[in-house]
Amino acid sequence: TYVIGEPCIDVMDRACVDECPVDCIYEGERALYIHPDECVDCGACEPVCPVEAIYYEDDLPKALEPYREDNERFFTET
Ligand code: SF4
Repeated sequence: TYVIGEPCIDVMDRACVDECPVDCIYEGERALYIHPDECVDCGACEPVCPVEAIYYEDDLPKALEPYREDNERFFTET
């Protein structure tokens, strides 16, 4: 799955939402989240993010590692 990290917070440009073929990017209060079970790993969202907040899970920078769980938590709590 792809993961949206800290750079998205309070930016929420939403360019990725338009690119996602399966509509698995959802809006939180301060950031966007990718549904880990719905993402088909197409990669379309990653290059269009103006703040480079999106990474393939295996390529997540260490500093953004907590956002993997953060994305999952968003969907288990709502
Ligand atoms: Fe959507 Fe593809 Fe990005 Fe997954 S990788 S969130 S399916 S655009």
